[in-house]
Amino acid sequence: MDNKKEENHEEIVIQKYKKIENMNTVVMAISIFLLPIIVILLLIAEFNQFENMLMILKILLIVVISVMMIFFLFIRRCPNCRARFDKYVLSPTYCPFCRIRLKK
Ligand SMILES: [Zn+2]
Repeated sequence: MDNKKEENHEEIVIQKYKKIENMNTVVMAISIFLLPIIVILLLIAEFNQFENMLMILKILLIVVISVMMIFFLFIRRCPNCRARFDKYVLSPTYCPFCRIRLKK
């Protein structure tokens, strides 16, 4: 009975972690593709003195960086012990803190 409960808990943690991992992929894609594009457009706008475009791009840049920060600080955590993963631990199979299994 107790063993079954534990298994169930592990299953829930794995499910939750899967969602975090999916979000991680999206955030990584944004940072890899969107950020350089914004920076290049920003330079173009700056060079040509497109004031309106420059303002929109700056806001966009702040929004993208904020989303990344919020994700890494508050969402990318262990679903079991809520510990924040180190930025070097990209895709852990086990939580380095509570040692719970995060993937099958
Ligand atoms: Zn943990």
